[in-house]
Amino acid sequence: MKVLIADAINEKGIENLKEYADVVVNTDISPEELLETIHEYEGIIVRSRTKVTREVIEKADNLKIIARAGVGVDNIDLDAATEKGIMVVNSPESTSITVAEHTMGLLLTLARKLSIADKSVKEGKWEKKKFMGVELRKKTLGVIGMGRIGSQVINRCKAFEMDTIAYDPYLPEGVAAQMGVELTDLESVLKRSDFITIHVPLTPETKHLISTDEFEMMKDTAFIANCARGGIIDEEALYNALVNNKIGGAALDVYEEEPPAENSKLFELDNIVLTPHIAASTKEAQRDAAIIVADEIIELING
Ligand code: NAD
Repeated sequence: MKVLIADAINEKGIENLKEYADVVVNTDISPEELLETIHEYEGIIVRSRTKVTREVIEKADNLKIIARAGVGVDNIDLDAATEKGIMVVNSPESTSITVAEHTMGLLLTLARKLSIADKSVKEGKWEKKKFMGVELRKKTLGVIGMGRIGSQVINRCKAFEMDTIAYDPYLPEGVAAQMGVELTDLESVLKRSDFITIHVPLTPETKHLISTDEFEMMKDTAFIANCARGGIIDEEALYNALVNNKIGGAALDVYEEEPPAENSKLFELDNIVLTPHIAASTKEAQRDAAIIVADEIIELING
């Protein structure tokens, strides 16, 4: 099988695959070159740079498998792949711990004002009173979406002695109880939580799930973090909530537009912490993602 690696993935995955397939690594491939050469390949591995569009798939006469080393498959035209009988695989489990750890970092950064304290010290100031924080202990954590990542966040927050409630109408029965988590409705999560963290997919149902009305329901001291997908939080409503102190603060790893506009109003605020979609970016997660997708292709080769 001839496999194209179109985006940079961890070396270990490439090594494993080379034992079974003819591997071509071309991580600078342009959309035009991809269109011209895709018919040569039976497998392709991408991360997020390369877009496997309908146009690409239509030209992919020999393609059997499209592998995304990572979670979402937003850069792959799933309908076109299905129509052509091409298998699409990804590695959602590879990043769960990494994203959960990033979420913990954001929650602690919000609670202890770490990012603005860091900035202040580097500016030569010593503003101890300004950075009075709060503990996580005995606070209520509200988890929206209790899947792979949400559950890992809950496990970690247990060590911080937080009480957890969650909103996830699709969770199989018994899962929350088994983890000692009270499952409730969205309104209760918003009203009761001191820290809210979002771990749902972006769907028509979750688009702007958190908007003006939802911020109104939250405590004025509440912190909210989004390491899931941009668009789940309505950023205009978030800006208004932050500027009017309707909530205590927010942390975003994902945005409605990525990267956000250079003049984004969010950048003006002190009560927001921003990271550039790096929640899944650890060496361990990238290695595991590459190994998992290489294994999927090897399995296909071995029948
Ligand atoms: P998952 O599928 O394991 O869990 C998602 C959970 O959300 C499920 O339990 C599901 O029942 C629940 N859910 C779905 N629709 C819902 C709704 N309308 N209301 C409430 N709950 C709902 O997914 P996961 O692996 O835990 O990933 C969660 C999110 O994190 C996804 O959006 C994923 O794209 C994102 N993610 C982001 C990064 C990053 O780099 N920032 C990395 C990995 C994953």
